[in-house]
Amino acid sequence: MSPERSGEDREDPRSQPFMCSFCLRPREETGVLAAAPTAAICRDCAAGALKLLEAPRPAAPGPLPATPWDALSNDELLERLPRVAEARDQVEEHLRRWVDVARGRNISWAVIGSSLGMSRQSAWERFRSGVQPHSQT
Ligand SMILES: [Zn+2]
Repeated sequence: MSPERSGEDREDPRSQPFMCSFCLRPREETGVLAAAPTAAICRDCAAGALKLLEAPRPAAPGPLPATPWDALSNDELLERLPRVAEARDQVEEHLRRWVDVARGRNISWAVIGSSLGMSRQSAWERFRSGVQPHSQT
């Protein structure tokens, strides 16, 4: 892949993450997202994380934080399931992009599969079709 191609990909809205990996809100709702290869974070979540990191440390460690689902009712839990599935899709899309880059560098399916802990055949079957653009519907 040429540097020009990479520049085009960055400007293509389809190459942007479509949801915050932390609050699971869509980009249309959060505004700009800071993206890493496997996650994206919105301004609100980044501000919350910064506040948490900058808070003074307690003298003694407190109880471990509850898992995200502990405080949710069954309805709230069920409402979030599709968003968690969308977060999975976003990670899958990122993985496909990385595999596409590896293939663009002529790295073999065997080496890619080995790096992912799968066979050459499994890697090829899973990633041969390349990046599937996320529908913005
Ligand atoms: Zn967020």
